[in-house]
Amino acid sequence: MTSIAANLQKIEQQIATAAARAGRDSSEIRLLPVSKTKPPEAVLEAHAAGYRRFGENKVQEAQNKWEALREVADIEWAVIGHLQSNKAKYVARFATEFQALDSLKVASELDRRLQQEGRRLEVLVQVNSSDEDQKFGLPPQEVVTFAKQLDAFDALDVRGLMTLALFTDDTERIARCFKVMRQVQQELRDVTGKGWDELSMGMSGDFELAIEYGATCVRVGQAIFGNRLDPNAYWPGIK
Ligand SMILES: *Cc1c(COP(=O)(O)O)cnc(C)c1O
Repeated sequence: MTSIAANLQKIEQQIATAAARAGRDSSEIRLLPVSKTKPPEAVLEAHAAGYRRFGENKVQEAQNKWEALREVADIEWAVIGHLQSNKAKYVARFATEFQALDSLKVASELDRRLQQEGRRLEVLVQVNSSDEDQKFGLPPQEVVTFAKQLDAFDALDVRGLMTLALFTDDTERIARCFKVMRQVQQELRDVTGKGWDELSMGMSGDFELAIEYGATCVRVGQAIFGNRLDPNAYWPGIK
């Protein structure tokens, strides 16, 4: 077994344990391997281990891997990082899922391009659950108003919410972010009458805690593919 396959198995086990501890069914939780900065070969290893959808935070890198692998394997791409509206056309072309929606401008541009392509896109709204200025995502109190306006975009299949918790060792403060997400989800359910079932939260360092707080998608990179040493040296020839 390759180390990537072994890491995946280990994380599956940790997900099962965390789910059991929380009294949840682990089939409710999807593991999204995040392959950013790693080569297509690493993606193929995880694909051989049973994974079909992969997360990338940069559009250009995601598109490069899509192009490199589209003839080779049946792989779907989830863009999980901030998107500028001028890059929406690329996402509309190849992505299956976009987890970082936080502006109507991007929603509108994605919808327009998707209609042109005859495609649809699964979408999660990104919430800034940690109250940090520098992070992307909507402030929790603005999500409901934003969400109501998404009905106008037929090609967007809105599934739920995504967040990056505070980057800290302080479990209490991380948990506070996850709790905010549950509150926003409940508010959305009450106001819109829809499910908003997807809660994408939890990464290599905090996915077990996120599962305790209701995560249905955990985005794990380094614990599967190894540490990212030099973020700029991952794809020869592309800056
Ligand atoms: C990189 C990234 C992850 C995965 O982080 P790891 O620490 O490698 O598990 C999750 N979500 C987003 C948005 C990311 O950019």
